[in-house]
Amino acid sequence: MTAGVDLTTQVQFLRSVGPARARALARLGVVTVGDLLAHYPRRYFDRTSCQAMNGLAAGKEATVQGEVLTCGQRRTRGGRSLQTVTIGDDTGVVFCVWFNQPHILKAFRAGLRVMASGMPQRHQGRWQLVHPDYELLTGPGSDADAEADGGTAHLHTGRMVPVYGLTAGIGQHWLRALVNQAIERTGPGLSESLPPGLMRRRGLLGRAEALRQIHFPADAAVLEQARRRLVYEELFLVQVLMAVRRLSRQKEAGLRLDKPGDLTRRLVEALPFTLTGAQRRVLAEILADMRSGRAMHRLLQGDVGSGKTLVAFIAALFVIEQGHQALLLAPTEVLARQHGHTLRHLAEPLQVNVETLTGSTPAAERRAILRGAAAGEIDLLVGTHAVIGENVLLPRLGLSIVDEQHRFGVQQRGRSAAAGTGPLPHLLVMSATPIPRSLALTLYGDLDLSLIDELPAGRRPITTTRVDAKGEQGMWEGCRRELKAGHQVYVIYPVIEETEGTDLKAATAEHDRLQAEIFPDVPVGLLHGRMKGDEKDAAMTAFRNGETRVLVATTVIEVGVDVPNATAMVIHHPERFGLAQLHQLRGRIGRGQAASTCWLLCDRFVGQESFERIRFFADHADGFALAEQDLRLRGPGDAWGLRQHGAPGFRLANPLRDNELVRMCRDDAQNLLESDPDLAAPTSAPVRLALQEAYARLAPFQAG
Ligand code: ADP
Ligand code: MG
Repeated sequence: MTAGVDLTTQVQFLRSVGPARARALARLGVVTVGDLLAHYPRRYFDRTSCQAMNGLAAGKEATVQGEVLTCGQRRTRGGRSLQTVTIGDDTGVVFCVWFNQPHILKAFRAGLRVMASGMPQRHQGRWQLVHPDYELLTGPGSDADAEADGGTAHLHTGRMVPVYGLTAGIGQHWLRALVNQAIERTGPGLSESLPPGLMRRRGLLGRAEALRQIHFPADAAVLEQARRRLVYEELFLVQVLMAVRRLSRQKEAGLRLDKPGDLTRRLVEALPFTLTGAQRRVLAEILADMRSGRAMHRLLQGDVGSGKTLVAFIAALFVIEQGHQALLLAPTEVLARQHGHTLRHLAEPLQVNVETLTGSTPAAERRAILRGAAAGEIDLLVGTHAVIGENVLLPRLGLSIVDEQHRFGVQQRGRSAAAGTGPLPHLLVMSATPIPRSLALTLYGDLDLSLIDELPAGRRPITTTRVDAKGEQGMWEGCRRELKAGHQVYVIYPVIEETEGTDLKAATAEHDRLQAEIFPDVPVGLLHGRMKGDEKDAAMTAFRNGETRVLVATTVIEVGVDVPNATAMVIHHPERFGLAQLHQLRGRIGRGQAASTCWLLCDRFVGQESFERIRFFADHADGFALAEQDLRLRGPGDAWGLRQHGAPGFRLANPLRDNELVRMCRDDAQNLLESDPDLAAPTSAPVRLALQEAYARLAPFQAG
């Protein structure tokens, strides 16, 4: 009996899936047939042919097939256990070895037929595969014994074979057969999700064919085509959504402003420096938006220290001097207070009224601020996302500025306070960390982009040095030299959620130790996430004013803090931070005219991957280069919280690697929407459906 199967069918209705297997599949995120087909292979074995064991070559990946001759294990001199399985064919013998994986021996038994893939190495005159991928071809307990469907041997040998992520209770062979069953049974009925004209123009495979080939590719070339088609689809749907938003906004009226006036001129004249060319260009872009009669939706990007805050403030003055209010939302309390402090300082001589509202603002003051905002007496309100919600009324709001940290919903960007019926206020989003362009177009594709691609003149490069325990005394010596020269020093401790308690103790203990032993003659401050708002504020203020000269801090310091007199930073356990985060941290120094030093204090044995990351960081100062590397290492989902954003989980697409496709999809989406704004044409129906399918559960991504 073959009841109809489509993408929404639950996998438990497929043959060979009982309740236990259904539960196991659910652990892989596979509940429906659609999920199953989107459980793409992690990699493939090329088994179009097996190598003869006497024909192996070092460093050239190979698949061999043969009979298990011996299994055994022993201890190495280093105290690890070593499992060895030898297999042989008519031409020779290969040693398969594993370290510390005694369970391996449960699977193998002399006489079984197996297939193993890996990189052959020559070791003591023999061929060896270290931690090979393997499959048992015969015997009880082999994957082949538990197949989902009869007669599926052709799925596992003599071809390019998919290798899936597995979980307990799910074997490679069984899953392959199940995917095959799903493809067979959905294949003909699977609807297309892209307009036919577009597929022809871009030479894209059909959806059913692409799904078949991504799982069971006929050859490497077709696999690449299948991947391209599926990546295109993921990226295209996002871009359609972005285009829908962009175009619908273009129809809305926005607050129209005149030429900038006196306040802006007075501010710029009073600055102790001149604006950089990039700051001027970006301000011109912002101003053009504000004078266009349409609401601005702009992303302001720039490397750490490029002067985004000042640009944001001048943008605020544009609206304030024409009788409107502005709102600045920061991601953390420390940052909100610091922005408030900096901006108040800049605003005072101009008689511009700046107030700051955060979680720790006392109730009476809070009420007064809310009243002042509602009465239109506050020109610029600075606060945290958490505190400024719908209930803050800014009747003459002309501009919302959102200082983002890749943490916030794409939607809520400061629109909440925009209650009112008049023309829409303008929106400026600032990204705290540089984002490579192709990713920005994906995450923020509904916004126009402005880039500050120039640092203020006279910045001295930061020297970044790795130090281990042996170099520690020299490092503290270096810090003391900075202090003698009148400068200030940050000492950073990571805080990891689960162990926050202990780490906090470490930071506190370190503070006491540094004060007592390393810096006995200067005041050492402490700042961490568990402190109350006003305590944080006091710690920050004391450091800014130079009352404390060394600040021991956890990562609450990470974003935006600006104390130009700080010229040295010690980062403990840099291996616990991602590249983007390290860059943010290091960006706290190198802000003044003096040369700065960043020390990375880490164990000599941090592990290869961490070591490479730290070395890359030490060698690179450019935030965009670091961001790209971060993406490369961690993938966009994890590095940038794409998932937390409510953005569609890209399964195959990686905006960085697929940057050409990102641009292509953006153009194609724009063209489609221009010719068919409501996606009403019959040829657009698949897109409309696919959008609904892909985003049904993601309210923020619903069109509109
Ligand atoms: P970020 O882009 O990281 O937010 P900030 O706005 O905090 O950077 O600016 C960093 C520092 O550079 C601040 O102390 C700011 O006053 C200063 N600054 C901004 N613009 C200029 C400029 N054109 N020339 C010199 N210094 C500037
Ligand atoms: Mg900043």
